[in-house]
Amino acid sequence: MTQMKIPVVRNILQANERLAAENRKCFDEAGIFVINLMSSPGAGKTSLLEKTIDHLGGRIKMAVIEGDLQSDFDAARIQKRGVQAVQINTDGGCHLDGNMVQLALQALDLTGVELLVIENVGNLVCPAEFNLGEHAKVTILSTTEGDDKPLKYPLMFQLSAALVINKIDLLPYIDCDVQKIRQSARQLNANQEIFEVSCKTGEGLPAWFAWLEKKVQQTRAR
Ligand code: MG
Ligand code: ZN
Repeated sequence: MTQMKIPVVRNILQANERLAAENRKCFDEAGIFVINLMSSPGAGKTSLLEKTIDHLGGRIKMAVIEGDLQSDFDAARIQKRGVQAVQINTDGGCHLDGNMVQLALQALDLTGVELLVIENVGNLVCPAEFNLGEHAKVTILSTTEGDDKPLKYPLMFQLSAALVINKIDLLPYIDCDVQKIRQSARQLNANQEIFEVSCKTGEGLPAWFAWLEKKVQQTRAR
């Protein structure tokens, strides 16, 4: 039985890679920089997005795909800021895949859009296994989750172009060693950009905005 399960899983991932490649082609033809934003539930994906819209929204036209098990609370938060957002409800599914993103793209008007953020389902495990066609994976880890998470859930940290360590305003009150997070994340992926931020106080966010804006400018120049 175990031997039969392996090829099935591989086929699913192969089919997903094909769809992801189609999505990527669509993004590249439209000149859109796309990030796949991943984290545990409550780490601050939507909060980071809100701050990013507030800072970059005036200069960069953005769109958002919101992945959630149920509800459209997060899409409503984004739309309230005047940004186009499409909600995908996975109906219990614990990650987004290439097919879901392809369907969501049909509901988006990509005219003039330069930055598309796909907010994945809150989960530190399988979202990392499914490419969506994005140019960069970005992981958010909040200080309240503990400094052991990169080594316990290595794949997401290994594959991410950037790691955003959120809720640094809480460091005085909790046991979390940010240097340990940095060291283990770098051990998994030496090229990863690391940002220490607080979406609540705004501390550290300018470096994140600058990184993202540079990526959009590089895409524009291509
Ligand atoms: Mg959210
Ligand atoms: Zn999953």
